[in-house]
Amino acid sequence: AEANGVASRNGAVAPDVEPEDSVEQFAEYRRLKTTMQQMMMTGVPNPYFTVHDAIVNDRTMVDGKEYISFASYNYLGLSGHPDVSKAAADAVNKYGTSVSASRLVSGEKPIHGQLERKIAKWIGVDNSILMVGGHATNETTIGHLVGEGDLIVHDALAHNSIVQGALLSGARRRPFAHNDYEALDRLLSEVRSKYRRVLVAIEGVYSMDGDFSDVPKFIEVKKRHHAMLMVDEAHSFGTMGENGRGMAEHFGFDARDVDIWMGTLSKSGASCGGYIAGSDALIELLRYTAPGFVFSVGMPPAQVAAALAAIETLEREPDRVERLRDRSSLFLSLCKEEGLDTGDSGQTPVVPVITGNSMVALRLSNRLKADGINVQPILYPAVDESAARLRFFITCDHTEEQIRLTVRRTAAHLAELRFDPVEVAVAES
Ligand code: PMP
Repeated sequence: AEANGVASRNGAVAPDVEPEDSVEQFAEYRRLKTTMQQMMMTGVPNPYFTVHDAIVNDRTMVDGKEYISFASYNYLGLSGHPDVSKAAADAVNKYGTSVSASRLVSGEKPIHGQLERKIAKWIGVDNSILMVGGHATNETTIGHLVGEGDLIVHDALAHNSIVQGALLSGARRRPFAHNDYEALDRLLSEVRSKYRRVLVAIEGVYSMDGDFSDVPKFIEVKKRHHAMLMVDEAHSFGTMGENGRGMAEHFGFDARDVDIWMGTLSKSGASCGGYIAGSDALIELLRYTAPGFVFSVGMPPAQVAAALAAIETLEREPDRVERLRDRSSLFLSLCKEEGLDTGDSGQTPVVPVITGNSMVALRLSNRLKADGINVQPILYPAVDESAARLRFFITCDHTEEQIRLTVRRTAAHLAELRFDPVEVAVAES
């Protein structure tokens, strides 16, 4: 048997496997092709990788045509703001387009530290550290701060970057029911004693459902069990709290009660990249040891300057946050008046309209496009089939008129499509 198999360390013989040396052979690739073919057979154009020709805010340009847009998380309209664009251009002129080295070894520019101090002050903690990608920030930070012998517990709907970080870390990983701090409390009562470090990872605002976590309750639980709490503010930075300072401002607690604040600058920050904010000790440790920081180039000048200018603009124009809140609640209340299923969304600029069927979601977005409205469908397997939806991102620059028209058209199309999704699908294709 050994001639046909591979002897493992304990002497057992593993069966031969077919070698795969090209991507076309991968089962993952074949599955992808099948899914794409099924989508094409519906006759609805591929909803992914739409090319947008200009700045995307309340409106967008696709193929020379203007659409009302609900598909970007430029929540505060700061990407494309003249002051932000100018700051980025000035930084390029001064520092070039890349810092051309890890910050640890000669990539450091004055604006890096300025933005890090600004973010820390904005949130209300000691210091912060910038990384080149939001996803990479979660991956490397979580992957680095915990490891074998530790436990990561995260919300069941946590973003992929949190899960990837947990997998990378080698720590034990246990999800808990969405937003359920009592389930977390029960879980930790049972298992806390088995682990050295426990990291609890949650998000501020959840970007699929537009609901948010009761952070003060999670703080109580993490304190009770001597765990560390990490809050991902990708979608709450700039949108929650009176001035957009996030979950601590929204609830009015001391930001230092959260051990690790994480955020991305790609949404309200009008830029790209991520940050971790917290105690001096946390930031010092990451600055010298986090692989995704130490072994990666520093954040490019244009991106740093844009995020810095975005926060400064928001400080000068705090009404943007209030407008965002007004527009979001108008959108949500109109959806409710129309009887649309918006799940648990509330007080955030993310409003899902759940269709409960991927085909209906796909067709609905296609029909809205024909009406001049751009919104992304979220289909199985990104969510359960019964949770397929359109996801509307509101910006502070949406007008009441744009919102009223969109909700009205959505409700009208959905009423028709629900009537018989299959028949309508055939008729349209
Ligand atoms: N965390 C959350 C909750 C996110 O939604 C995202 C991306 N949308 C990220 C992290 C990753 O951020 P980025 O897109 O800036 O890399």
